[in-house]
Amino acid sequence: MNAIRSIRRNGNALAEIQPQSWLDALPLAAAIAEHDGRRVSMRAMNKAFERIWVDNAFQTSVDPRNVDRNIRLCCANESGHFAYRVLIGKGVHRHQYDVRISRMGTMVDNVAGAYMFTLSDKTAEVESLENLHREMRSDSLTGLANRTGFEEEIERRLIFAKAEPDVLDGDDPPNAASPHFAIIALDLARFSQVNQCQGEVVGDELLLAVASRLSATVRRGDIVARQGSDEFLLFVRHSGEAHEIDAIIQRVQTIFDTPFRLSSIEIQMDAVMGIASAALSVDQPNDVIGHAQLALKRAKARRKVVMHYSDEVLVNARRRFLLETELRAALKAGELELAYQPLIDLDSNAPIGFEALARWNHPDRGPISPVEFIPVAEESGLIVPLGRWALRQAAMTLASWDQHMGGILPVRMNVNLSAEQFALDDLATLVGETLTTSGIKGDRLTLELTESAIFTDPDRAARILHELKGLDTHLAMDDFGTGYSNLAALQRLPIDILKIDRSFVTEMMANADKTAIVRAVISLATTLGMKTTAEGIETDELSRALAALGCDMGQGYFYARPLDSLAALAFLEKAKLTLLP
Ligand code: C2E
Ligand code: CA
Ligand code: CA
Repeated sequence: MNAIRSIRRNGNALAEIQPQSWLDALPLAAAIAEHDGRRVSMRAMNKAFERIWVDNAFQTSVDPRNVDRNIRLCCANESGHFAYRVLIGKGVHRHQYDVRISRMGTMVDNVAGAYMFTLSDKTAEVESLENLHREMRSDSLTGLANRTGFEEEIERRLIFAKAEPDVLDGDDPPNAASPHFAIIALDLARFSQVNQCQGEVVGDELLLAVASRLSATVRRGDIVARQGSDEFLLFVRHSGEAHEIDAIIQRVQTIFDTPFRLSSIEIQMDAVMGIASAALSVDQPNDVIGHAQLALKRAKARRKVVMHYSDEVLVNARRRFLLETELRAALKAGELELAYQPLIDLDSNAPIGFEALARWNHPDRGPISPVEFIPVAEESGLIVPLGRWALRQAAMTLASWDQHMGGILPVRMNVNLSAEQFALDDLATLVGETLTTSGIKGDRLTLELTESAIFTDPDRAARILHELKGLDTHLAMDDFGTGYSNLAALQRLPIDILKIDRSFVTEMMANADKTAIVRAVISLATTLGMKTTAEGIETDELSRALAALGCDMGQGYFYARPLDSLAALAFLEKAKLTLLP
């Protein structure tokens, strides 16, 4: 006979219980049960216990057979206590309770005896733990998974796929049809500009819009997560066929086809993506995420829109690591040199300066291009010692030319500064010291910077540029036209020269659009009171065309390739310049 059911069904049974006054005084739901060795029956209970337990006696968790088993477990326990958790109630009334059973009186060998039951409601505690767990796994702005949540969700899917390769995970597509997955690491291009120019509220709104478009484009069972400020991660299942991956990428790209209509403005955004694929049976899914992120990093560095992680990327990463180690040693060993390329006045055709360009003559591998080692130096922080060395070396060379000619040459030295130097080094102090030790005046130095130096941290950049101007140096914007070309920002900065990127100059003759761009840049520079230098002039025809457009200075193989210090000096001597007083 079932004691609890009898209590519930029959009022007389309930009346049998004599609630003891001390049970009623307890702040907890409590009851006394008695076991006669064969079965258990409730002897007394307080109101709170009655409400929770008796009203839900139909539930298996409070089924007397379970109660009997738990009492036996309590007896098996030397302490005389046993605790377990039960779910009682349905829907919103569902609560989680800790049930604690304590044997009353002395322990005997058999189960016969009295037991105290107490219930404590753990629902709020469990829920807040669950909320905390959820919060830890999701991004508070978009509600998407964050990195931790993303990894957990992937893990869950992979475990399921391994256990049930043929089963639908309640989602499309079935694991068997899509035994592979791709991780797409996606970064919004120029997001920081939106944040800076439009404010963080607009930035947040944009992120939300991107998150919702991304979520709408993936299939059920795929995952969208937000990794960091403007980086998203996608987990998408596929068949392993290249064309299917391409289709997925295309689908993601189309969400950037239409502008994002936000409450105050409409913004056209672009994204850069890195992709890595693996089989669902992979052991280390986190490696795949890392590979996608590496591919993204490479895509950004090479200004590509999409880049697949492949062995090539891996080989490159190894090569770069090796290169970094060697570059560090080369800097110490003095294996780096500067080459000097003449800068020519397009009116008079006379040299008016040189651009110092770093050269690395590797003892085994021969010359390594700065296009290859400068990015390595930038990524590793080696750009700081390298940049210091280049600045000092260039200044010392100019001073030595002056000395050789017996007076001050009417030429300037251009030195490249990378964006990372802006972020990492104290440039004003460095330039000040270099001027003092070399003895050359500030106005004979032109510092070439790129737009990325300015837009990563505009306030800091503006401060540094003004400090550099305070030392009388000239400032040139390098590779103009390839970056953000944010004219409004340029106007506020003390830039003296715009260097028109080689890509526009080289194609000018064949491409009317490029001519239009060059013309626009020159007229813009004139309006802003800046001078212009055209890079990459390889023919006489180009030099004339540029002079006709009003470009002030030129540089290129037509005049001279980058020369070593001695050849550069010979070039100067041949030009027969008049020394400055
Ligand atoms: P950049 O500042 O745009 O330098 C001009 C590049 O164009 C140089 O390549 C130069 O050799 C090349 N060039 C000049 N005239 C012509 C031409 O008529 N035709 C062609 N096809 N190319 C021409 P280089 O020396 O390989 O330097 C590449 C880049 O490496 C530089 O681009 C600069 O961004 C970076 N770099 C070089 N030295 C340094 C340095 O000391 N510090 C920093 N931060 N960057 C450097
Ligand atoms: Ca340059
Ligand atoms: Ca350049």
